[in-house]
Amino acid sequence: ELSQRMSERAVDVIKFLMKEGQMMKPGDLIDADLAELIAGEFGHTVKRVSESDVEEGIFNVADEEGDLESRPPIVTIMGHVDHGKTSLLDAIRHANVVAGEAGGITQHIGAYQVEQNGNKITFIDTPGHAAFTAMRARGAQATDIAILVVAADDSVMPQTIESINHAKAAGVPIIVAINKIDKPAANAQKVRTELLQHEVFVESMGGETLDVEVSAKNGTNLDKLLEAILLQAEILDLKANPNRTAEGVVVEAQLDRGRGAVATVLVQTGTLKPGQIIVAGDQWGRVRALVNDKGDHVKEAGPSMPVEVLGLSGTPAAGDKFAVVENESRAREISEYRQRLAREKQVARQSGSRGSLEQMMNQLQNSGLKEFPLLIKGDVQGSIEAIAGALEKLGTDEVRVRIVHSGAGAITESDISLAEASNAAIIGFNVRANAQARSLAERQGIEIRYYNIIYDLVDDVKAAMSGLLSPER
Ligand code: GDP
Repeated sequence: ELSQRMSERAVDVIKFLMKEGQMMKPGDLIDADLAELIAGEFGHTVKRVSESDVEEGIFNVADEEGDLESRPPIVTIMGHVDHGKTSLLDAIRHANVVAGEAGGITQHIGAYQVEQNGNKITFIDTPGHAAFTAMRARGAQATDIAILVVAADDSVMPQTIESINHAKAAGVPIIVAINKIDKPAANAQKVRTELLQHEVFVESMGGETLDVEVSAKNGTNLDKLLEAILLQAEILDLKANPNRTAEGVVVEAQLDRGRGAVATVLVQTGTLKPGQIIVAGDQWGRVRALVNDKGDHVKEAGPSMPVEVLGLSGTPAAGDKFAVVENESRAREISEYRQRLAREKQVARQSGSRGSLEQMMNQLQNSGLKEFPLLIKGDVQGSIEAIAGALEKLGTDEVRVRIVHSGAGAITESDISLAEASNAAIIGFNVRANAQARSLAERQGIEIRYYNIIYDLVDDVKAAMSGLLSPER
């Protein structure tokens, strides 16, 4: 990438690096100091900017108070399993569609919008706190209001409490939907009382939390629930500026056979339009089309509106932020920056002891050994054989791979002991180490490398082996 930007041949850069005693191949990561040295050598002037400057002016661009207009609330439904989250989402949506278009066909795109007395409400279609918190873990707060569903015949259960804690941790206000009120065993008062113990104080108990008795099955009081949401939204005074370039969050994304990468996004501020270029997570693309929750193509999507975006290069993750950027090269730059960050994070995660493969090479070199001992575990025998074959081919007169053990299945403690005894590194292909093995490896300083692409594996071993070659070659 650096050679490309300097309009130099990669091979020249690699030659220069070799002269400097650095064995590298295209795609290897170099640090800022080395990049500066290389750029200087090739006659370029280097200006250092902070890495995060790449994204400056793109994400989290503040709005002027005067430009703000009120926007619909975004709602997530949480609660214990079988208390009726899905039923409630379906009932609300169904009631709305029937009232709206005659026989309207609905698409499940991950979020939908309904209208109550001319006011819009957006529902995230994945119930539960797991998705909610996964999105938060990626830095996105997509939800304004949490609906806590509690079945009136079952009352407060473990996941009810979890949901309360997740909502509270996020600072998101709760509205309690006491569901299954149609059941003979329903006891709404018990629900209210039990919620007190978890510091959810509904109005009739002297608190400020709104609660509504509903039946998702019979459609009872759904409009009351929607009214409560609108009331809560009014208190929250939710606002955004529709007249600017859009920013928002990815709700879900998948590869569609016919349509390519499809991401459902929620616009949080601004207005998104076809033809614009967006960055979403580490993906980017020109918006080919916007499709709403009714399956219609739309010309724009304003604040709190969920739409499917077609035209991305790949699938971003749920909770990734997206933003409109001014041109393709900027988009490419940001997505490359983000992909690199993600790669670095992954590498750091996968090998707690970074660089120890290299260290091991140095040790071997010093001891004069010309063998590279490896222990290989894989998911199936076929791939292990393919890997062993490919690695054996790497051997030269000077240095070769020695496979001390190979087998199918997870990496176990006995593998670690064996690797330790034979001074081998461990390679896991589509398998992981179990917990005991991981901690033993950590204690013993045994390196485990994980791969899921044979090419990457072979390439890394090749690079490591080149460090074993005699310097005079
Ligand atoms: P979730 O796990 O929270 O998404 O719960 P579901 O929506 O799948 O509902 C669990 C079960 O409760 C299903 O069998 C529903 O038909 C039933 N159910 C949901 N809402 C009601 C309700 O208001 N009244 C009654 N009687 N049953 C309900």
